[in-house]
Amino acid sequence: MLMLRVRFHGRGGQGAKVASRVLGTAAFLEGYYAQDFPLYGAERRGAPIAAFTRIADEPIMERGVISEPDVVIVMDKTLLRDHQAKPLSGLKKGGVIFINTPQSPEEARAEYTIAGQIITLDLTKICLDILQRTVISSLAGAVAAKIVGLSEASLKAAVEKVISEIVTDSVILEKNIEAALYCFHAIPAVELKTTEAVQMESRVFTMPFEPAAISSPALNTTGTTVLRKTGNWRVFRPVWDYDACNKCQICVARCPEGCILVNEEGFPYVDYENCKGCLICVEECPAKTLGKEREVHAKADSEEVIG
Ligand code: SF4
Ligand code: SF4
Repeated sequence: MLMLRVRFHGRGGQGAKVASRVLGTAAFLEGYYAQDFPLYGAERRGAPIAAFTRIADEPIMERGVISEPDVVIVMDKTLLRDHQAKPLSGLKKGGVIFINTPQSPEEARAEYTIAGQIITLDLTKICLDILQRTVISSLAGAVAAKIVGLSEASLKAAVEKVISEIVTDSVILEKNIEAALYCFHAIPAVELKTTEAVQMESRVFTMPFEPAAISSPALNTTGTTVLRKTGNWRVFRPVWDYDACNKCQICVARCPEGCILVNEEGFPYVDYENCKGCLICVEECPAKTLGKEREVHAKADSEEVIG
């Protein structure tokens, strides 16, 4: 029995769930059996989430989260230092890790001490260039489709089907297809060497009754509590221009994290340890004085504290 297991790690709002759907749909359209599903903790923009796709040439009896993936898609590289998300946990020997980063595979390998096959591509930049947004679902689904060996035609049809069920704007749909095909061709073809993965039979588990802290650990770890600093969730950070700010405090009131403070002169300033980069403040500023800057290089020292 052929069985490939792909695990996506992203942040709420990046499109990990839809990426797994794009991959599963492409596999289905190519004649395989497929499963795709997400796992959330508390639904919160920027919070770590995972999504899963199984692809097989026979009906899939296996259920539940994928603990031993053949392929891991890391949609936000700061998750590689996240002690709750643990995106590389259980990756099979010979498996492939894709990382959304401007770094080369060698740079990523050195920074994160990764042993497996690594592929990198700056999906966020490609998405900003083509779609002018940071929802990289189609792009992440596309690189996963390339890694598992699906065809361009199946990917294109899958993006068309999945994205058209979410958006009605034909321009956005066409740009999603364009971005997905760009990424599909931008990464090299790889050989998945997880021999045990393609031979493994589906297994049936006996599920014992467990306390919620064990059976739903994603909801019970510090990953969703006030103890967790969310500053490494950002793709963009808000930046203030005090010359144009009129001190109306609307940004302060709208921040869902309560992390915009006010200094003695009445100007807002942000606690970057907790700002998760949702950019609601940027949207809401009536004077349009708030700007944004992309966080390309996360600081390793702050990630250690956050993880
Ligand atoms: S400061 Fe702005 S970007 Fe940061 S969490 Fe608050 S609203 Fe979101
Ligand atoms: S909403 Fe804009 S103008 Fe008002 S305090 Fe915030 S940055 Fe200044």
